[in-house]
Amino acid sequence: MSAEKVQTLFIDGAWVPASNAATRTIYCPGDGSEVGVVSEATTEDTERAIAAARRAFESGVWADRPAAERGDFLLAVADGIQERKDEFARTEAMDTGKRLVEAEGDMDDITAAFRHFGKIADHYPGRLVDAGDPTVVSRVVHEPIGVVGMITPWNFPLLQASWKIAPALAAGNSFVIKPAELTPHTTMLIVDVMDKLGLPAGVANVVLGDGGTVGAPLSTHKDIDLVSFTGGVVTGRKIAESAAHTVKDVALELGGKNPNVIFADADYDAALDNALNAGFLDSGLVCSAGTRLIIQDTIAEQFVDELVRRAGNIVMGGPFDEKAETGPLISSEHRDKVTDYVNRGVEAGARLRTGGHWGGPEHENGYFYAPTVLDQCTADNPAVVEEGFGPVITVETFSTEDEAIAIANDTDYGLAGAVWSSDSGVTNRVSRKLRHGTIWINDYHPYLPQAEWGGFKQSGIGRELGVTGMEEYTVSKHIYENTEPAVSGWFPQK
Ligand code: NAD
Repeated sequence: MSAEKVQTLFIDGAWVPASNAATRTIYCPGDGSEVGVVSEATTEDTERAIAAARRAFESGVWADRPAAERGDFLLAVADGIQERKDEFARTEAMDTGKRLVEAEGDMDDITAAFRHFGKIADHYPGRLVDAGDPTVVSRVVHEPIGVVGMITPWNFPLLQASWKIAPALAAGNSFVIKPAELTPHTTMLIVDVMDKLGLPAGVANVVLGDGGTVGAPLSTHKDIDLVSFTGGVVTGRKIAESAAHTVKDVALELGGKNPNVIFADADYDAALDNALNAGFLDSGLVCSAGTRLIIQDTIAEQFVDELVRRAGNIVMGGPFDEKAETGPLISSEHRDKVTDYVNRGVEAGARLRTGGHWGGPEHENGYFYAPTVLDQCTADNPAVVEEGFGPVITVETFSTEDEAIAIANDTDYGLAGAVWSSDSGVTNRVSRKLRHGTIWINDYHPYLPQAEWGGFKQSGIGRELGVTGMEEYTVSKHIYENTEPAVSGWFPQK
């Protein structure tokens, strides 16, 4: 296809090419095969998209619709995803390399997010305030925040986008979204669904390409009211800094270094099985992955031996390989980063028990990294301190409850964590003491769209999902009405 024919930016209700006709080829990280060619936008394209979103917002074409109607629209989007679930899941699997079954699960989670926000869209009636004066009507109303800039990562491309798009539309906003440059296709698909369902032009806009060029205006432009970002902490800091110049609202969902705390009296088989899921599900490319195993010393040796044995048996493979139990990393640069991260952990004294190498010759066209366990880690080991963002579990041990809590909180991050014990006194105490945004007791990974998601400390600012995840996209306004206007007499008439 000629470059001019590649029209994958969605601006002001139309699919258009990049203004300089530039393109980018997307490859599947599982086998290096070509997935598609997409437009690579310019900074000016993003600015045009912002202008379209601003016009749409100011016109009231979406914001002034009844909230219940906006909610119905989201429910129709949810149905639209389910009708095209196979296409959505295959597309996500090819862009990310994740197994088809995992991509299918993502599509169900995305549908659930749209349904959740569709159902609560008209639950923000505002409130009357008692002014203490019968001639005054004082009310607080919630209005859409305006134009939202959304920047999303490559690990759960459409899931992370849906946690922003659904509440933003429910609240009546317009938006411009820039998905990660390596995984653009499902964001295009969802906008296609919304376009076909009649979303007015300019309400939803998609720009594709590199963060520094295409994404940057979403945090600097004065016509963006809120920038909602999911990604790494280094980029998150840059976005917060550049957003400060126009004093825009900032929502950040960043990385994690998530403790999985296991007491000796936990259900052994469940804890072991879930320790593998916690660290290796989706190749560990989950912001809330339980990559810090913190285990009571009395069972540590036996538990870790078995964890290592089972990690060594995990089968790697591409998205459509039915034998595969876990997939690849996203790119060769990313695999180099994970390689360096593990090497530094070992140099700092961790004991490499399994993994620590790329996939074998059968995987030479994909970016596979074997599930890895680093044992005997100290708190200052870089593998314990840094988010590795790969299939790597570090092991630390504790002897007392207080020690377990101190180790689990000894991180600059605070996204998620788990505690395993058959003593509910222990699990209740520990879950309240952990400084992380989601805590699982005797489980790992499940989340509910009805419940808030987000980080403490450097894992982020704000919350997605739940009720707060909708409030992030609204701004409150106090309207004070004097029903019997009268001369105040404050300044005497002269
Ligand atoms: P990243 O920070 O490298 O990139 C995220 C997005 O930011 C991409 O779209 C990228 O193009 C864009 N970007 C980069 N520089 C930019 C700039 N200067 N201005 C504007 N946009 C810019 O993150 P990633 O590698 O794609 O994703 C992995 C990270 O995301 C991990 O740290 C993971 O923990 C985190 N994550 C967090 C959550 C959560 O819910 N807290 C969920 C998923 C992923």
